[in-house]
Amino acid sequence: MKRSHLIKPILDQVYPVIDYGKGVYLFDKEGKKYLDGASGAVTANIGHGVPEIIEAMNEQAKKISFVYRSQFTSEAAEQLAKKIAALLPGQLNWCFFVNSGSEATETAMKMAIQYWQEKGIHTKTKVLSRWVSYHGITMGALSMSGHTSRRARFVPLLEDFPVIHPPYCYRCPYNLEAPSCSFLCAKELETVIQRIGPEHIAAFIAEPIIGAAGGAISPPEGYFQIIRQICDKYEILFIADEVMTGSGRTGRMLACEHWGVLPDIVTLGKGLGAGYAPIAVAVASDKVMEPILNGSKSIMSGHTLSANPQSCAISLAVLEYLEKHKIMRQVEEKGNYLKQQLEEMKDSYSFIGDVRGKGLLLGIEFVEDQHTKKPFPRKAFVTQRMVELAKEIGLIVYPSGSGIDGVNGDSIIISPPLTINEQELMELIQLIRDTFSAFSKSMNLSGKA
Ligand code: PMP
Repeated sequence: MKRSHLIKPILDQVYPVIDYGKGVYLFDKEGKKYLDGASGAVTANIGHGVPEIIEAMNEQAKKISFVYRSQFTSEAAEQLAKKIAALLPGQLNWCFFVNSGSEATETAMKMAIQYWQEKGIHTKTKVLSRWVSYHGITMGALSMSGHTSRRARFVPLLEDFPVIHPPYCYRCPYNLEAPSCSFLCAKELETVIQRIGPEHIAAFIAEPIIGAAGGAISPPEGYFQIIRQICDKYEILFIADEVMTGSGRTGRMLACEHWGVLPDIVTLGKGLGAGYAPIAVAVASDKVMEPILNGSKSIMSGHTLSANPQSCAISLAVLEYLEKHKIMRQVEEKGNYLKQQLEEMKDSYSFIGDVRGKGLLLGIEFVEDQHTKKPFPRKAFVTQRMVELAKEIGLIVYPSGSGIDGVNGDSIIISPPLTINEQELMELIQLIRDTFSAFSKSMNLSGKA
């Protein structure tokens, strides 16, 4: 085999070479067609090869591709910030552009700490988060992440940020059911704050729907309202990490909007550039910016390529495309239909434990026994097997699950481009069925519950 100089995720694995993409489809160099049922990593929100975006890309490239943010601003960056402020609810008006979701959550963390410093409070430096969460791979972002396998090698180097249980209703940490549970998992936040002392806590960060670590775990109605109240009561900022859930993925600009809850800082990534450009953003509210504007007048963060005009022009074109084609309006309907189809598959496939999520961010958790919810043994590598079987068949799905306490080890995310049409949706459903049938066969399962 010809040697490769590229460090791929698994070094001894052979990856198909992708040639081009069109809409919801990808084509490799061998001519094999894949339906992108995951939008890559919940990123290609408007599908591949969209002419309007390519045009915007070329137009910006003809003008200017790079300026350094401490020397110049650009029309593209100004317009994108204006557009995001207009699309987001409440007073989320201040955009700090970066190049990845990890940079966005780290920037959000720094903004929160700086906010308190500018108000003269220097002890509020901890960020609380939840087990079964993912906020990014850099050390600050990983410190906030409850993702066992991604943390494991670096634990001694990570900040010791406290965590609370997630609203993982399928396997409730308290063995209760919502809403009669009184949302004990949300109220845990208050207990932890009291234990540590609110004077040490800058912010609480959460994904509105837990993505990579849990497989689209959506909270029960009422959960985030309680979280918001507790944050307000103890003067702690609430950071919503909407890198995966934002930019229209659940049918709204922010998933938080489903529960009428406003964060103080929000992060967007992935779908913001829809894979056409590496871009992400930490957006701060007027409240957060006020002491900074009256104080040092500068956020202590930044990267050489922050607010890169090329990335900003592309992201602006993506947001305009979403608006022009009214794409967000159809997301809930498509998502509800897909979710219902997945639910119905439980009758045919005994290994489907839970179907969850919102809009076109849906998760499926796999179990050995539907009734007892017993997970598959780790050594069966069920998620990996499912992802590989799907790929062989011509379907891309996204692996999730962090193996927290060994219970939620196996889940996948189904998150096709938001632009998927009816016929493609039917094809996606059939390909999922084919994958599940192939899985049953490979595991010698009978197929019926
Ligand atoms: N936050 C969330 C919620 C994410 O899903 C991800 C990526 N999976 C990140 C942060 C990190 O983003 P990136 O991979 O772009 O650094």
